Amino acid sequence: MATLHTSLPLLSIPIYGMNCVGCAGKLQSALNEIEGISSEVNFALEKAQISFKENHDHSKTLSTIITLLDKKNYQTDRQALIFDVVGWSCVSCANKTVAALSKHPFTFNVQSNFATETVQLQTLQGAFTKMQLDELLASLSYQLTEKTQQNFQTQQATKLTNQKKRDKKVLTLLAISTLLSLPFILSMLVMFITGSHHFLPRGLEFLLATPVQFIIGARFYKGAWNSLKDKSANMDLLVALGTSAAYFYSLYILITGLDQPLYFESSTLVITLVTLGKYLEHRAKQSTSSAINALMALRPDTAFVKKGKIFVSVNIDEVQQGDIVQLAIGEKAPVDGIIIEGTSYLDESLLTGESKPLLKEPQSTVIAGSINGEGVLLIKTTAVGESTSLSKIIHLVENAQMSKAPIMQLVDKISAIFVPIVLVIAALTFSIWYFTTGDFQQALINAVAVLVIACPCALGLATPTAVVVGTGVAAQQGILIKDIKTLQQVFRLQTIIFDKTGTLTEGKGSITHCYSVDNNDELMLAQLAGLQMGSKHPIAKTIKDYCSEKQIEVIAASDISAVNGEGIQGIVISKEKATSEILIAGNQQMMARFSISIPKKLDLPNEQTIVYIAKSGQFWGVISISDKLREMSQDAISELKQRGLQTIMLSGDKHSVVQYIAQKLHIDEYHSELKPEQKLNKLIELQKNSQVAMVGDGVNDAPALAQADISIAMGTGSDAAKETASITLMRNDPRLVAIAIDISKATWHKIQQNLFLAFIFNTVAIPAAAMGYLSPAIAGAAMALSSITVLTNSLLLKRLKIKELS
Ligand code: ADP
Ligand code: MG
Repeated sequence: MATLHTSLPLLSIPIYGMNCVGCAGKLQSALNEIEGISSEVNFALEKAQISFKENHDHSKTLSTIITLLDKKNYQTDRQALIFDVVGWSCVSCANKTVAALSKHPFTFNVQSNFATETVQLQTLQGAFTKMQLDELLASLSYQLTEKTQQNFQTQQATKLTNQKKRDKKVLTLLAISTLLSLPFILSMLVMFITGSHHFLPRGLEFLLATPVQFIIGARFYKGAWNSLKDKSANMDLLVALGTSAAYFYSLYILITGLDQPLYFESSTLVITLVTLGKYLEHRAKQSTSSAINALMALRPDTAFVKKGKIFVSVNIDEVQQGDIVQLAIGEKAPVDGIIIEGTSYLDESLLTGESKPLLKEPQSTVIAGSINGEGVLLIKTTAVGESTSLSKIIHLVENAQMSKAPIMQLVDKISAIFVPIVLVIAALTFSIWYFTTGDFQQALINAVAVLVIACPCALGLATPTAVVVGTGVAAQQGILIKDIKTLQQVFRLQTIIFDKTGTLTEGKGSITHCYSVDNNDELMLAQLAGLQMGSKHPIAKTIKDYCSEKQIEVIAASDISAVNGEGIQGIVISKEKATSEILIAGNQQMMARFSISIPKKLDLPNEQTIVYIAKSGQFWGVISISDKLREMSQDAISELKQRGLQTIMLSGDKHSVVQYIAQKLHIDEYHSELKPEQKLNKLIELQKNSQVAMVGDGVNDAPALAQADISIAMGTGSDAAKETASITLMRNDPRLVAIAIDISKATWHKIQQNLFLAFIFNTVAIPAAAMGYLSPAIAGAAMALSSITVLTNSLLLKRLKIKELS
């Protein structure tokens, strides 16, 4: 069991019922008080992300979380799993199974039935991946089989029906509320036009207002009560207090028969408008997540897998690495894999933003979620389920959307003290009006207006909605933005540093010259390729590919070690002599390091990368590699220059090659023959005067990538680079750098605009209400409007003009 918990993934769960950003903040701190976990709650996404600490007994953790949610009246999607058990001989066996299952952090409420030989447990929907569940079951001493295997699609379907049910309920309440408010609106209109008074009979006003106050308005009372239990105050409290004051005061007048106006229309309209606002807000929140939903929809449910001689349709969860999958015309690829038969055009646009379908032939890679054109393909599976690129993209985007910037923590803090402050302002409003004018009604109504208008909803929505839309738009272009910190920094970038090989060049060069002093090119290449088995450098790949193309059999090398930025060395066994010899390959510095003298009159092209080869301390030969510039590199550089950014190329390659490329691309500045640590130092030097981004593939530039203010990893780069990069480009198009910058900037601008709008609204509206310029009903409408304005502003990001790349 011990090993099972070592690398627990994050658990991301939906949270329903949070009314404002303050609630999210409260929930987050409450969750973080639970031992053994840390969590982040995102109001806009209605999600909590929980990470479980290692080496902690998690048998009670999830049930504690659920109890907490229940106590706070929040809902999440639970799921019950039922298993058939084989092999129990006594009740204590059953207890043992229960104890073992309970230990897993994702389970709670585990129960066994010895008589029916079943185990039932509760978990949260989607908490377990198929693999994790299998792993858990395998660790048990008895054989458990799940009774109803729910796959992704059905899970989504249940989620959707649940959501629809909730939506429908809210909509029904809203409709009733609106109907009951209509007479008030009409009477207000008539009053406004004719100047007459008391259009509605007083009794009818009471009859209309009461159900709204206590049935439609129940959610505000509940929310207010929950927050009071927490010794805090939220927007529900403001609405509940405000409307109750108006309602009960009117009731008092009605009962005592005093000849004073009633304020039933205020309480009713406020509740209706705030409910309407909440509903629209909820709808808009759903549409902010449309990008990620589109990605999720790319996951097919079943795959056509070869079993013996025939293909059968199997559940996607059962496909394994190595399985041969048939991909029919127009279908979505269910797995990552390599084509073994067939050619077709595949549409990867939703994954990489590449607009044109790509030609795929045998040996080409296919990524799950890409859509097949007009050829049937046989694919050998290399990754399934959670390991596919698609799943990784989804996780990355989700994580980015969950992340909180310092500014957001500030907003959370403000929201938390906001409500108490508003209560004080309302109390002051009431007192000042009452003591200066002696008019109780006026004082009360103005205080109510303050309470109603001050809800900090717009403030809470300002940041997360923009982040969700912005990262979504980026994902559609094939740009993965890691977190909101990145959005905040991209804004200030002044310098963009590019690595050369694999970034501005294609990185898959071709060998144009090959020379060996003993005229034994083939042996030299065979041993060189063996040496390069130990390297992930694009040069290594070029050499290996060349050998397999020329059908040169690779001779293995041992004790391989790389000298970063210079070359590679190792030991090869020579067949004839039965001795082992040291083989060295690399650039001039590498040769100098081993005191190898290079013959003078090697006639080699200036603009190509040269790899010198030496054996047993003697110069053996040389190859020259031409690495094509990426077609889009020129545009990429000029786009950045247009935006006023300085472009710099740092390379480990020799001066003449780097110069040639820099001049061709019109790069502002370039430095050649740099070792990884020199690239790093150069970058640190540049950072003294400007904000620097580094674009690279993580091969020989990882230290610089890590140091840069913003790191941008190329899609083909090393996994490590992609994991740590602030921005990952899903396709190898350096032009995306400029687009990523545009999107990040636009998103950041939106956040600022939204925060400004929200703050301005509250700073203007609260004094206006306190001074008696706003009636409670108008205050309610204005409040709803401010949330909707912020949301709409965020959604406008979707309209961002992005230059069409071809
Ligand atoms: P770049 O900055 O252009 O990406 P690198 O720092 O990755 O270049 O490498 C610098 C130089 O070191 C290369 O141009 C090449 O001459 C040499 N080199 C690096 N790795 C290897 C290798 N595996 N085999 C031969 N030469 C290598
Ligand atoms: Mg490189």
